[in-house]
Amino acid sequence: MNIHTAIRKGELILKENKIKTATLDSQILMSKAINEEKKFIILNCKNEISTENLDYYYDLVNQRSNGKPIAYLLKKKNFWKNEFVVDKNVLIPRPDTETLVEQVLELTKNKNKLSLLDVGIGSGCILLSILMERKNFYGTGIDICKKSLEICRINSKKLGLNKRLKLIKSNIDNFHYGKYDLIVSNPPYIKKYDLKCLDKDVVGFEPKHALDGGVEGLSEIRKVINRSSELIKKKGFLILEIGLDQRNCVKRLLQNKGFYIKKIVKDLANHDRCIVGIKI
Ligand code: GLN
Repeated sequence: MNIHTAIRKGELILKENKIKTATLDSQILMSKAINEEKKFIILNCKNEISTENLDYYYDLVNQRSNGKPIAYLLKKKNFWKNEFVVDKNVLIPRPDTETLVEQVLELTKNKNKLSLLDVGIGSGCILLSILMERKNFYGTGIDICKKSLEICRINSKKLGLNKRLKLIKSNIDNFHYGKYDLIVSNPPYIKKYDLKCLDKDVVGFEPKHALDGGVEGLSEIRKVINRSSELIKKKGFLILEIGLDQRNCVKRLLQNKGFYIKKIVKDLANHDRCIVGIKI
């Protein structure tokens, strides 16, 4: 079978399984199966595929048909200016989360040697993106999941950031180490009973502990704010990702712990997504 025919067949299988981006996905998975760039596929669509590669391609198409996200099939995802290794133990980096990176960079434009903490670091996409842009900053990342710290370490090594990154397995409640100029976090903030309403690609495959924010969606955010108010230096920044309806509750939680609300920033879909507090 040639590349073109296989892609058409894959596309049909994906469409039958209600995958919205069937055409694009079938091409991406072909690239992965034959280990060539998309450009090669378009230019060489009449090339025959080996049986081995074809089997691999159909295996990928079947996994995608069941909802497994493309990023987990490719084991990578682009975020900000870099590519990050991902697997099922870490949340897939979202473009909306780039809002946090953007804000941190704006807040730290003329700053030197700041010490940063990322709570629930996951793949490391937020903190590592910042460290790539600010060459004399130092980072600490904590996560409850050992396997996600392993993925984060792979990413930090790839980006040459190992010397400036400390990783610690801990939950936020038990973390009492150091004082930070800036704390950033994308904590789980989905309401427990809303989890099942998320896209099946998300709820069926991404780690629940990175999404589940308890009954009100605020239990992890609350913990991060409470502990951060102790871990942060005076005049330090706390930058949080929040759910689209959490703006007012989170604002109150921050104010109660001695933070002044500097700004609330919208994401690409115009939802309140990022809140910036300063410790006073
Ligand atoms: N924005 C993610 C989603 O909607 C949730 C991320 C989180 O809970 N921190 O899938």
